[in-house]
Amino acid sequence: MPVKTATSGAFLLKTALPILTAASLAVAFATAFAVWSASETDRIAIARQERLVHVIVDQLRSGIAHDQESVTVWDDSVEAVEAQNLEWIDVNLGSWMQTYFGHDGAFVLTADRVPLYAYLDGAVQAPQSFHALQRIVGRLLDDLQKRLAAGDQTGVTDKVLSIGSTDIAVVNGHPSIVSVKPIVSDSGEIEQEPGQEALHVAVRYLDSDFLDQLERDYLIENLGFAWALPKTDHQSSVKIPDGSGKTIGYFTWTPYQPGSTVLKRVAPVMISFLVASLLLISILLAALRRRSIKLQASQAEIQHLATHDQLTGLPNRRTFERSLDEGLQRIRAEGGALGVFYLDLDRFKEVNDTLGHPAGDELLREFARRLVDLTGPQAVVARLGGDEFTIFVPDVASRDDLERLAEDLIEMARQPFSIAGSQAFVGVSVGIAIAPEHGLDRVNLTRRADVAMYHAKHSGRSSHCLYSEEMDSLIEARRELENDLREALDRGGQLHLHYQPLYSAASSELTGVEALVRWKHPSRGWISPVVFVAIAEEVGLIHRLGEWVLTEACLATKAWPVETVAVNVSALELSKAGYAMRVANTLMRTGANPRHLELEVTESTFTAKDGECQRNIQALRELGVRFAIDDFGTGFSSLSRLQQLDVDRIKIDRSFVQGFGKDGSDEAIVRAIIDLAKASGLRTTAEGVETELQNERLRSIGCDELQGFLLHKPVPPEEIERLWMEKRPLKTAAQSRENG
Ligand code: C2E
Ligand code: CA
Ligand code: CA
Repeated sequence: MPVKTATSGAFLLKTALPILTAASLAVAFATAFAVWSASETDRIAIARQERLVHVIVDQLRSGIAHDQESVTVWDDSVEAVEAQNLEWIDVNLGSWMQTYFGHDGAFVLTADRVPLYAYLDGAVQAPQSFHALQRIVGRLLDDLQKRLAAGDQTGVTDKVLSIGSTDIAVVNGHPSIVSVKPIVSDSGEIEQEPGQEALHVAVRYLDSDFLDQLERDYLIENLGFAWALPKTDHQSSVKIPDGSGKTIGYFTWTPYQPGSTVLKRVAPVMISFLVASLLLISILLAALRRRSIKLQASQAEIQHLATHDQLTGLPNRRTFERSLDEGLQRIRAEGGALGVFYLDLDRFKEVNDTLGHPAGDELLREFARRLVDLTGPQAVVARLGGDEFTIFVPDVASRDDLERLAEDLIEMARQPFSIAGSQAFVGVSVGIAIAPEHGLDRVNLTRRADVAMYHAKHSGRSSHCLYSEEMDSLIEARRELENDLREALDRGGQLHLHYQPLYSAASSELTGVEALVRWKHPSRGWISPVVFVAIAEEVGLIHRLGEWVLTEACLATKAWPVETVAVNVSALELSKAGYAMRVANTLMRTGANPRHLELEVTESTFTAKDGECQRNIQALRELGVRFAIDDFGTGFSSLSRLQQLDVDRIKIDRSFVQGFGKDGSDEAIVRAIIDLAKASGLRTTAEGVETELQNERLRSIGCDELQGFLLHKPVPPEEIERLWMEKRPLKTAAQSRENG
């Protein structure tokens, strides 16, 4: 969980924030640019429209003047005005102008500015009505008549036929264009004195329906006239000044704003695009976040895999070494003491072989859990591999504490493990080294704990040892022994085979012998097989040793009148491919009878699921070789398994026999074993018979054969042969064999 929250924070800060900031900036910039270009476009468009309105007003002024010229530059007009033919004037210079050009007013004045004719708002008016315009038009008349008198022809072209004067003014309450033109001859045949021409005044209202026409012609929306500047922002306007520069009102219209229009059209598309982009970015960010969380998780997982043991989840060797280094560093700096434990499970291989590897794994996991529970949070428990574990205990107060912990560990390991539907019994051997007493170097310290463990294992399982200097020399001695054993096998002469007689419980007759190997070391004297068989197994010499023993036994006993020649075989030999063939070879080579040979193996050999072992046993049984389970009761199998074992004999371990007369339970167990064996058709031999009491009881409860110091010690072959010479049982045994 902490991984996830840490990731969220870091992800937001390092990835999401910069991306979202960049995206937001880009959006803001794009929006601002769009708005700016729209308003800039609008500004340019409005400026153009304003110019257009000015141009329109100018054109109106010259247009009205132009309209006038169609009638004012005309001989007939000059004559009609001269003659004061009002009817003609009305038709041609008054109502005509209204119907044809849409003018709102027309006035005809003499050169002395006496009104002859007036037309306004669609009707002929009294000529005096012109006086209302007198004030407005006066300035125009002054200007025009002065120019006429001066003969000024400025602005006259083949299109503009006469000079004139125009202005914008309020007429009859309407903003209007007012234009004055002289009524002149078009042919030049009528003589007129400059300045004395009659005058025509045209009026065009600016606020009438004519604005609608402008609207249509120039595509200006809502074009109108306002006396005051419109207050709204949505209207454009231009000032309309009169000739004296005074503002008389404003043209107003709804401006054409292409930028805003485009923006309005495009905005929904843009907004959808932005929303889609933001959505996409969010989706991508979410995906990115999920990925980065996954990545961190898998990094954490890789880290865990690199530092922990996969099976048990405990720290692995590397992690152990690192924390031990740190602990040692602390001790070097601050003083104090720490302890290192080296643990190795006892009989673990048997559990693995009998119950299978998954069960073995389960046992290791359970053992790891118990270790962690027992040692507490201070200690570092690690698995080195296989069934080897280490514990590093920081802050050790006394050596007693460590030994107490070791005892607790051993007790803990002794408790049965419920796995694969059955109870497995193992044990643990514990070696202890202490820093600084045994050194401050990690490698050396761990090695010393290992050496101590090795000693614990060899001084009887389920025990613990604290490292001492002698252990190193013992190990050295063991290494020497290993070399010496190899040499003994190479050279010969040092190994001897002794035989211990086996007696029938019923008849007390000698029925067989067990071959027991002896080593006379040139400098150390007799060495026990308990010591050197174990070394041979450990270093792989057991196969050569076993072969020597078998050959020797076959050669020595082939002429003996016995039913049984028992030979001890290590489980390692039996599980090696081709073992059965080698035994068959030896039997053939020596001429020994396979039916006399009985191989003694430990229980686990029979219960193991090792296919090679089963094949060897099968092949040898087919040859007639028999099998016995040695030291029965000390191994792993339960009594109930007895019936399933494919063997001929059971040798009851001497530890049970030694309990006879002391502890009732041992006798009961032996009785049960014998009963069960009988029921399964197996023979039984009791080992280690040392007292008469044991001898008596074993006979009475129905044991088949007996073996022990009380009856006979293991002796060299010559002594066995002497037995037959001296004692009757020899004859009896020989006879019984001949009879059988
Ligand atoms: P084991 O197979 O249980 O052999 C019997 C051991 O009990 C022998 O010890 C024998 O001397 C001892 N013994 C016999 N009677 C008594 C008695 O009344 N009391 C006591 N306390 N002990 C008695 P040994 O010869 O020292 O052999 C020890 C073990 O070494 C054997 O135990 C066997 O497991 C192994 N061994 C001996 N020879 C061979 C061999 O040729 N091959 C293999 N693989 N192992 C061997
Ligand atoms: Ca034996
Ligand atoms: Ca035995």
